[in-house]
Amino acid sequence: MAKKTNLYIIVVGCGRLGSKIAGNLSNKGHSVVVVDKHEDSFEHLSQEFTGFSIVGNATEIESLKKAKIDKADMVLAFTNNDNINYMVSQVAKEVYNTPHVVARIYNPDNVPLFKQINVKVIIPMLLAESDFQRTFEEIIGE
Ligand code: AMP
Repeated sequence: MAKKTNLYIIVVGCGRLGSKIAGNLSNKGHSVVVVDKHEDSFEHLSQEFTGFSIVGNATEIESLKKAKIDKADMVLAFTNNDNINYMVSQVAKEVYNTPHVVARIYNPDNVPLFKQINVKVIIPMLLAESDFQRTFEEIIGE
């Protein structure tokens, strides 16, 4: 089966991470909607962002409904709170059967919880650790 080229993607949390990823995905031609509880957060979005933005708290299902979560091919749970990201992931996966869900997780101890519901994870702490390892090897020349 041919891969769908234009995806409908909801990015929950439009801070430093969400806004950057939303901009990149929008540049690639995907239809992107960002949701954030603070309107100011949308100022992080680049000029090229062509998607929609919704002010709303992700803990309220209405905000996710406004973003048309039932139509989403992918949901990115990118707030700065593991519990909220888990809740969003759970709603996407278990209520709306969203095909692809990716969450940012601060506490690596929470990884199994997310894996249990089939959510892919991004763990900044582990990325920083492997980045440091690489930098250290560059410095020391190992
Ligand atoms: P950052 O850590 O810079 O990537 O930003 C995280 C973003 O998540 C911020 O813009 C917050 O306003 C947003 N955020 C945190 N909690 C919620 C929530 N419950 N609903 C929607 N957005 C949220």
